[in-house]
Amino acid sequence: MAGLYIHIPFCKQACHYCDFHFSTSQNLKDDLVNALCMEIEMQKNYLERETIDSIYLGGGTPSLLSSHHLQGLFDVVNKNFITNNPEVTLEANPDDLTKENLAALKAVGINRLSIGIQSFDDEILKFLNRTHSSNDAFLCLERAREAGFDNINIDLIYAIPGQDSDLLKNNIKKAVAIAPEHISAYSLTIEERTVFGKQMKKGIFAIEPEEVAASQMEILMNDLSTVGYDQYEISNFCKPGFYSRHNSSYWQQKKYLGIGPSAHSYNGLSRQSNISNNSLYVKSITQGKIPCQVEVLTTANRINEYLFTTLRTVWGCDLKYLLKQFSYDLLKENQQALDTLLNHELVVITNDILMLTQKGKLLADKIASDLFAAE
Ligand code: SF4
Repeated sequence: MAGLYIHIPFCKQACHYCDFHFSTSQNLKDDLVNALCMEIEMQKNYLERETIDSIYLGGGTPSLLSSHHLQGLFDVVNKNFITNNPEVTLEANPDDLTKENLAALKAVGINRLSIGIQSFDDEILKFLNRTHSSNDAFLCLERAREAGFDNINIDLIYAIPGQDSDLLKNNIKKAVAIAPEHISAYSLTIEERTVFGKQMKKGIFAIEPEEVAASQMEILMNDLSTVGYDQYEISNFCKPGFYSRHNSSYWQQKKYLGIGPSAHSYNGLSRQSNISNNSLYVKSITQGKIPCQVEVLTTANRINEYLFTTLRTVWGCDLKYLLKQFSYDLLKENQQALDTLLNHELVVITNDILMLTQKGKLLADKIASDLFAAE
């Protein structure tokens, strides 16, 4: 089974922290959707006829598309790919989810919503330059349930300056009260070309210290597990059985095809990424050329990606798989680093599966890089 990602690169306004590819001008919307349909046709053999079990519309803000646009995209997908009862997720902002919009999304086949709530505090939402209020967040959840959506993710952000641990706890309570099936929680990171990045360069914005981010992550882990959410990946929590099929496929090294500007694809041996520019993307596609760069992965790349992604998950890193797939014996190749991590109780090995401990989860990226294979 494989995944299909479609990038919708438009937003109403730029959030101060966001480094994704999007444009706040929607002039090119019709042309871009036409180009997406053309690229789907052009890429129909990328997955070598593997069946698709998840389709993900991300962005940007896919909830800015009309049902006419969405239906057009799904028609082309169904004409060119074999699908099997796919999970079909659409990323949405709360202020786009009107009653009429939700009914239209349901009618075209969206069966999972991923809603960018980020915080339930109006001051924090303003600080982040979000377009919605906390009231919009509550209302859109109610309306989504009324429209029949029974698989909903909400995104939250922690380690935001001004959102202290009490405010975070309050946010978690509010999130739990609206009972989404899935919660993704990300630490605020600062990227150079964002408003926060520019303010940081001028010295008028400071990120929270690492200890604050770690202690807020601990709060999330504790508070969400107490009320029955499984932390199946460092940043992802769900009610039993509601794993995101799409995200899990990334972590399980399944193949996926990314359509649209800035979208990435992976076929097991290489990664390719499309140009992050809407007009150049449309121009190239209409000339029959996919504007992408291809990176052929080395064995060390593939080992390290496997380590990095699987260590973050509840399924852990399978040492036998590493040996079988890459002839890489982690126990021998990186014995010293592994011993140190075991002695510090940051990882455990059970039945040849290497996993992070609760303490290790707070240092996941550093631990993975300590274990990376050399090029
Ligand atoms: S966070 Fe989402 S809504 Fe905000 S600018 Fe980025 S893609 Fe757009």
